[in-house]
Amino acid sequence: MKPLHRIAVIAGDGIGQEVMPEGIRVMEAAASKFDIGLQFDRFDFASCAYYEQHGKMLPDDWKSRIGSHDAIYFGAVGWPEKVPDHISLWGSLLLFRREFDQYVNVRPAKLMPGVTAPVVRRDGSPRQPGEIDMVIVRENTEGEYSSIGGRMFPGTEREIVVQETVMSRIGVDRVLRYAFEVARSRPKKHLTSATKSNGIAITMPYWDERVAEMAKSYPDVTVDKFHIDILTAHFVQRPDFFDVVVGSNLFGDILSDLGPACTGTIGIAPSANLNPDRSHPSLFEPVHGSAPDIAGKGIANPIGQIWCGAMMLDHLGYREAHDAVMLAIEAVLRSGSAEVRTPDLGGKGTTREVGLAICQALQR
Ligand code: ATP
Ligand code: MG
Repeated sequence: MKPLHRIAVIAGDGIGQEVMPEGIRVMEAAASKFDIGLQFDRFDFASCAYYEQHGKMLPDDWKSRIGSHDAIYFGAVGWPEKVPDHISLWGSLLLFRREFDQYVNVRPAKLMPGVTAPVVRRDGSPRQPGEIDMVIVRENTEGEYSSIGGRMFPGTEREIVVQETVMSRIGVDRVLRYAFEVARSRPKKHLTSATKSNGIAITMPYWDERVAEMAKSYPDVTVDKFHIDILTAHFVQRPDFFDVVVGSNLFGDILSDLGPACTGTIGIAPSANLNPDRSHPSLFEPVHGSAPDIAGKGIANPIGQIWCGAMMLDHLGYREAHDAVMLAIEAVLRSGSAEVRTPDLGGKGTTREVGLAICQALQR
C-alpha cells in the first residue's frame, strides 16, 4: 500500500486564500500523475480573520492538531490594518518555526524562462534563464535574532542598549551540514559562506571556523566566503557566480530577500522552513505576504505557492514529481502568453487561469 502523507493546509490571509487553491490543484494533479497519497487537512487558524473572531491567532491545542502532519502548506499571514504584524506573525509563523525547530530556511533564486531579471549583465544585456540559479540557506533559530539583552539607564543620556548574538556549535553545524548536503547534490557543488569576521570579531570568526571544519567532510564541494557587504554587491553584479549560499540568521535573512529580488517578481518566489531531522513538520510558504493591495481581485500570481508545493513534494521524497511541477511552471512561463500570466508579469490572466494552465502542462 502506498504511504499517505497528511498535509496541514493553512491559507491564512489576503491572497493566501486565493493562491492556496491553485497550489492544491497542482499538488493533486501531481499526486494523481505520480500515484502519491496526499491528504489535505484545512485549518482556519493562523489568520487575522481567526484572530478577529477568537482574540488569538491559534487555538490552545494547535500543536496537537498540526504537529503530527507530514508538512504544513502555508499561504500568507498578516493584515496590518486589522492586526499588528507583531501579533499576527509572532502568534503564528514565528511560533511554528520555534516550536517545530525549523532550523533551516531555504529559498531558491532561479531566473525562470519568460521572466526578465531586474539585474543585467555588465554590458547591459539581459540575464538569460539558467544564468541565475542559486539556493540560499539561512540559519533560522539563533544567531543575531536572540532576545538576550536589554536597556540600561533608559531615558537618560547614559542610555545603553545591548543585544547578544548567540551561536551554538550544534546550531551552526546543523545548518552548515544541510547547506553542504545541498551543495553536494547540485551540479556545480559550490558553497559560499556569508561572513563579516573583519568587523564582528567573536561570533563571525567562529562561524568561519565551523565552515572550514565542515568543509573537511565535503572535499567534493568548492567552498569560498565573502563578507556580507561585498557579497550583496556580487549578488547584483554577478549572480551567475553563486550556487549554494549559506548565512547566519541575519545575513541569511538579507540574502534570501535579495536573491529572489534579483530574479524577478516576488509573486513566483518560494520558501521552505525545514526541520531536516523530521522530528516535526516542515513548513512551505511563498516568499510574498498577504498583499492587501491586490487581495480579492483574483490576480495574485500563484506560482510562488505552486513552486513551494513542489519543494514540499521533494521534501516528502518525490523528486520526480517536484521536477515535473517545475517543468510545468517553466512551460507556462516560457509560452509567454498574456492569458496565462498575472499582471505582475505583464499579463492579463487570473490566479485561476495560471493554476489551470500549470495543471494542464503537468498532465501533458
Ligand atoms: P510581508 O507579509 O512579508 O510583510 P509585504 O507586505 O512586505 O509582505 P507583500 O504582501 O508580499 O509584501 O506585497 C508586496 C508587494 O508585492 C505588493 O504590492 C503586492 O501586491 C505584490 N505581490 C505580493 N505577492 C504577489 C503575488 N503573488 N502576485 C502579484 N503581486 C504580488
Ligand atoms: Mg505585509
